[in-house]
Amino acid sequence: MADVIELLSEHIANQIAAGEVVQRPASAVKELLENAIDAGATDIQLIVKDAGKELIQVTDNGKGMSPTDARMSFERHATSKIKSIEDLFTIRTMGFRGEALASIAAVAQVEMKTRRHDVEAGTRIVIEGTDVKVQEPCATRPGTSISVKNLFYNVPARRNFLKSTTTEMRNVLDEFTRVALANPSIGFRLWNNGTEQHRLEPGTLKARIVALMGASYEKNLVPVEQRTDLLNIYGFVGKPQASTRTRGMQFFFINGRFIKHPYLNHAVVQAYEGLIEKDSFPFYVLFLEADPARVDVNVHPTKQEVKFEDDRLMYSYLGAAVKHSLARYNIAPSLDFTL
Ligand code: ADP
Ligand code: MG
Repeated sequence: MADVIELLSEHIANQIAAGEVVQRPASAVKELLENAIDAGATDIQLIVKDAGKELIQVTDNGKGMSPTDARMSFERHATSKIKSIEDLFTIRTMGFRGEALASIAAVAQVEMKTRRHDVEAGTRIVIEGTDVKVQEPCATRPGTSISVKNLFYNVPARRNFLKSTTTEMRNVLDEFTRVALANPSIGFRLWNNGTEQHRLEPGTLKARIVALMGASYEKNLVPVEQRTDLLNIYGFVGKPQASTRTRGMQFFFINGRFIKHPYLNHAVVQAYEGLIEKDSFPFYVLFLEADPARVDVNVHPTKQEVKFEDDRLMYSYLGAAVKHSLARYNIAPSLDFTL
């Protein structure tokens, strides 16, 4: 019998990886926004058409790329952010897997214009199905602009599984909101089908929350600030009246990264015991800063799940910090916090 094992082509390997990294337009939005942040941008613009199914364009004023880096950025496992596995224990960037651009380019038509601040000329690259169609010098502003057109044009099964434009746009907005909340000192703009939907000026976290969520939040935010040996906790929790009947207004960020964490969510919810009805959810935007060595961010390709070394201790610190803040604002009697 002949041997039967073959190495997958680069294109197919990228398409398979794309299945994990890019599930919907919102996943590409998240990756592109995070790249802009990692590049040190202070101003980021997101343009979407048809909820990102037709176009996602992210333009930043970050550090830009050299012509060679611009080409390399689309290779799988190509990253400027880590060099060794140890770097994961000190990581401060959003990205590190070097997979996002390769994955996006495997399932969409991509055009990038990029220019470093120290040079006159930029680079334009057009990629389709992992193949570089064009690479040439071009005139462009310092920074990077990436357009992702016709997501999943070459993966009909994926394209057909996309939800309605309304649902996909809600997902895009969720990602935009998370990144914008995590980076209040960065200016963001969002254009949806030619209409400016958000213009967020750089400012405080409180101003960012109000700009995103609405003026009614101005009076309903209680600051949380607590330093412990294990982690620093800061941000805002909502007064009981700002609670909602639906989930979705709960935001945890660990070292600047949005995460979903039912266990830590429970710590916050139990701090509201007796203050809100059982079936309603408190509003919160909470930042947890911990030594990266104690947080494993590499448990899932989208990095929305993390593992903590000491999550029971985090649970009690977090619950106590929220109770303490509510009590200080005379919202709850100061009972049993232990900090
Ligand atoms: P990762 O972010 O995990 O490193 P990506 O595939 O998202 O992987 O990006 C690959 C590399 O391309 C990055 O490490 C970075 O050097 C470069 N890059 C991507 N986007 C930008 C950008 N907007 N500005 C500057 N460099 C970028
Ligand atoms: Mg990235």
